[in-house]
Amino acid sequence: MTQKFQEAGYEIIDMNEGVAEIYIVNTCTVTNMSDRKSRQVLRRLKDKNGEAIVVAVGCYAQVAKQELEEMPEIDVALGNEEKKDIVHYVEKFVEEKNKVIQIDDISIQREFKDMGQITYTEKTRAVIKIQDGCNQFCSYCIIPYARGRVRSRKAESILEEITQISQKGIKEVVITGIHVASYGRDFGNENGLIELLEKINSIEGISRIRLGSLEPKIITEEFMQRLAKLRKMCHHFHLSLQSGCDETLKRMNRKYTTSEFKRVVENLREQYKDVNLTTDIIVGFPGETEEEFNKTYEFLKQIKLYKMHVFQYSPRKGTRAASMPNQIDGNVKEARSKMLIEMSNKNQLEYNEKMVGKNVEVLFEDKETQDGITYYKGHTQNYILVKHKTREELENLIKKVEVLEAEEEYVK
Ligand code: SF4
Repeated sequence: MTQKFQEAGYEIIDMNEGVAEIYIVNTCTVTNMSDRKSRQVLRRLKDKNGEAIVVAVGCYAQVAKQELEEMPEIDVALGNEEKKDIVHYVEKFVEEKNKVIQIDDISIQREFKDMGQITYTEKTRAVIKIQDGCNQFCSYCIIPYARGRVRSRKAESILEEITQISQKGIKEVVITGIHVASYGRDFGNENGLIELLEKINSIEGISRIRLGSLEPKIITEEFMQRLAKLRKMCHHFHLSLQSGCDETLKRMNRKYTTSEFKRVVENLREQYKDVNLTTDIIVGFPGETEEEFNKTYEFLKQIKLYKMHVFQYSPRKGTRAASMPNQIDGNVKEARSKMLIEMSNKNQLEYNEKMVGKNVEVLFEDKETQDGITYYKGHTQNYILVKHKTREELENLIKKVEVLEAEEEYVK
């Protein structure tokens, strides 16, 4: 969106540096709290400059058309598919001085809308979106309603973009989407993701391919064998587990069991000796008894992942889980979350300590000064943060360094 406004001749200013004439809020709706925050920000911006045009876009806008129609602070509200024409709709408002609400039914969309250049680029890596939408309908999640059904981006468009990026000197691509494992299924291709990765692997100039969050079930024997042949694939996989208890997983409407998950973990570890596995866990899902939580705890202790992102369940209006009986008390969620975060920190430190004395290849990103010492920061291909004491300029270079010390969050 920034790029579209720039191309149309608008000047972009930082929200905290002065007063703008147009404010765009890319809203989130993942929890009830995100909805509230989205509304608060929109109101605050109108207070800041009553003359400004306030625009709500994104997922909250997508699912809250009526609320936005009734909010006097909003001048323009657009759904996720209409974002690509944002400049047009803002200019329409300027011309007609009439509130513009353009939020179409996203559930009927069947094609990935290519927004032209949609990449988010950091200094050394580019985030490439390959699909939108999700057909899974996990019982706690609003995303299928806000993002619609699975729509995959055409492989040619993805490959062309990555080729262009590689020519600009970017070495790493991160493959993302709402449900990456579904890539290609809307084209009737069950092997869509692995075929795409094979093609990306052959693009010259790209040194690393990183996968965003992945549903464990996609890692079948065949997928694994084909993946293992891709030299540029990073040995870091984020596999969303959500719960280590089969009964809870069933209520969550997740489509795998803990034993299937465990098999995937074992296969990956067998294939890649240095693999780094991370996950997301929800604690305090409705009906999660002490016994169920203990199963999750024991399962996680057994499979010992590098890092766990722990979320306390938060009911989202409009999802099945929000109206399930036996909602869990906040203090219980807090205590369970604490236990898993402690386990995660311990696992991370243990893994990092095992790296001491080893030589690792790092893609350096930027500098940081800590206690008067300058470090160059970067990541190994398996996504361990490395801080390397040096005076050299290392930005965007891949270099081997020896690990001397380990901390919880990084190695030095
Ligand atoms: S797979 Fe992910 S995006 Fe899809 S419904 Fe489940 S949690 Fe939401």
